[in-house]
Amino acid sequence: MAVAALPENISRLRQLIRDCTLCPRCCRVDRTAGEVGACRIGEKAVVASAAPHFGEEPVLVGRGGSGTIFFSGCNLDCVFCQNCDISHTTDGQAASPQQIADLAIRLQASGCENVNFVTPTHVAHAVAEAIAVARSRGLTVPIVYNCGGYESVQTLRLLEGLIEIYMPDFKWADAAAGKKYSGVPRYPEVAAAALAEMYRQVGPLELDKRRVATKGVLVRHLVMPGDLARSQEAIDTVAKTAPGCAINVMGQYRPAYRAAEFAELMARPAGSVIRSLREYALQQGLQGVD
Ligand code: SF4
Repeated sequence: MAVAALPENISRLRQLIRDCTLCPRCCRVDRTAGEVGACRIGEKAVVASAAPHFGEEPVLVGRGGSGTIFFSGCNLDCVFCQNCDISHTTDGQAASPQQIADLAIRLQASGCENVNFVTPTHVAHAVAEAIAVARSRGLTVPIVYNCGGYESVQTLRLLEGLIEIYMPDFKWADAAAGKKYSGVPRYPEVAAAALAEMYRQVGPLELDKRRVATKGVLVRHLVMPGDLARSQEAIDTVAKTAPGCAINVMGQYRPAYRAAEFAELMARPAGSVIRSLREYALQQGLQGVD
């Protein structure tokens, strides 16, 4: 089990939001003074929901469900966001780290297999403090950091020892597509550097005898219509950066949010394409999880 957070790491994370470089957007706004950057969230995290979730990967769900805490806002701006009612709003309950810790403890008490922070990147300072508080109050289940993959290595280093399971997306192998459809520059390069750091910290996915995840990296890759994500290249990068790591090649793309503004986003990838990409991932030495 991870050790408690070093207090200096938490205070360094809090410092980062004063001239915000918590994520690679580097908006350089002072969130402690009420300014907001691209994620539109200030100093306090906003919790959209907290509940056991049975729709995540079986290795996270186990018997008790994954204890999801969804945060409003996001550091990405995916025009096809499958989660837009949460990620593209600031609706929810502003919560202190102590209140987030309370939610985590409650999820554990209800039998959840883990605490799964969904879209935590832009509130990593609050998540780190909440984990430290919750651990001091008896939280023992693994922490899942369920993020979009566009992460700052500096921030990830400050989270070392707090997170058991990193679950980043690896959305794009094509930087131009990352810019056009997720609104950020250099997505493949930034996401690969972040993945390398996550893998350095926690390594490949480990399961207990019930086949529930206890530690490691699980990458998610959403197959896009017309191969807009350049999926084989994305899988190649994951295999090269984090050899042998687990990957969920996801086939549930559907047009959502602003997808209708882009004709190419209105299709769905064929089942045969998804199956052959899953096979390709296995051939590259990755562990398939779905
Ligand atoms: S966390 Fe938000 S404000 Fe900070 S750099 Fe990222 S998008 Fe900008």
